[in-house]
Amino acid sequence: MAKQPLSLLPLPELLLRHHGERSEGAPGLFGIMKEWIDQKKIPPVLLLTGIPGIGKRSIGHFLAQWILCESGPFAQAAAETGDLFGGLGLAESPAPSAARSPDTIRPCGSCGSCQRALKGSWIDFTEILPEEGEGEALKIDQFRELKSSQGFGAHEAAYRVILIPNSDRMTPQAANSILKLLEEPPAGWLFFLTASDSTLLLPTIVSRCQTLRLRPFRVPTLEALLTENGVAPARAVVCAALAHGSWGKALQLAQDEAWERRKSLFELLTHPAETIPGLVDWAASEPRNFELLLDQLEQLTADLIRWSATAIAPDSYAWANADGRSALIQHAKALTREPRESLTRARDFWLERAERLAQARQQSLAPLNRKLLIQDLLLPWLAVR
Ligand SMILES: [Zn+2]
Repeated sequence: MAKQPLSLLPLPELLLRHHGERSEGAPGLFGIMKEWIDQKKIPPVLLLTGIPGIGKRSIGHFLAQWILCESGPFAQAAAETGDLFGGLGLAESPAPSAARSPDTIRPCGSCGSCQRALKGSWIDFTEILPEEGEGEALKIDQFRELKSSQGFGAHEAAYRVILIPNSDRMTPQAANSILKLLEEPPAGWLFFLTASDSTLLLPTIVSRCQTLRLRPFRVPTLEALLTENGVAPARAVVCAALAHGSWGKALQLAQDEAWERRKSLFELLTHPAETIPGLVDWAASEPRNFELLLDQLEQLTADLIRWSATAIAPDSYAWANADGRSALIQHAKALTREPRESLTRARDFWLERAERLAQARQQSLAPLNRKLLIQDLLLPWLAVR
């Protein structure tokens, strides 16, 4: 995996507000930030969880920028007391009300530290990413440098922030090697871990963490985020509806190439014989395309399965894949025309496709002949005609 750029800041305000606000009894990001200000300290390990593509890593960057911000509550407090790691003397601050105002739960955006954060040239911030060509696993080597620097505190700020995205992909060796650091972090070190599946983490690690569970986005928020990013409204409506609450998925779906490819996917429903060879070649050419094919086939079959559970005529149904509406209607009608039990048979066919897709996702994690797997996925659609 190529190293990802750090250009995720500043975060879209909508994204920040969504994760910031209190929900279902949980304090939300802003609540946790205020709690840290009130308690005058930050817990040494924070775990950010939630589905993929929800902004866990971006929130990690945002928090790091805020903590390292020279006019933020922690920098101010540290400078005033001259005590970097002990009691952060907010109470003695000349303007405690300012330090507690809602503005302090945003980095200032203009100080030297914020400027460096926005450019991705951080000091006192380390991100542990997989080596290029190493797959997505975080291996023990990636932590060696970090461990060798543990005698050092922060260079400039009160804290040194270490972000470990996808910490659920640490190898057992890597997890064990970092465990000691997480159990007894060096003074002033803060760890932010992100995980889509926190059950893959060592329980001893999870027990060390304050956890912030990030919620999936609501469809209208995704729609608004997409249009803010210059996506045409009609496209934004469809992509938001199909993203299952994931901002990353919505964005990926809205890319021109992915969007154009949907046309041939809809043709699979109406003209499978003509469409399959081209789809197979395209999907086999790159892992990214293969993922995209799986995603989009899943969305199509889910739409058909949902429809089959209603008593609504195909023409009147509100298809989530609104841009493929006429193909879906044609396909649904063709499969359920007659005899009477044909709706049950059609539903079984779609359920089988959905199950096969789920299996393919599992199989795609192992080395494989991708082309064979894709053919195996697509050829059953020929039976439709
Ligand atoms: Zn700042």
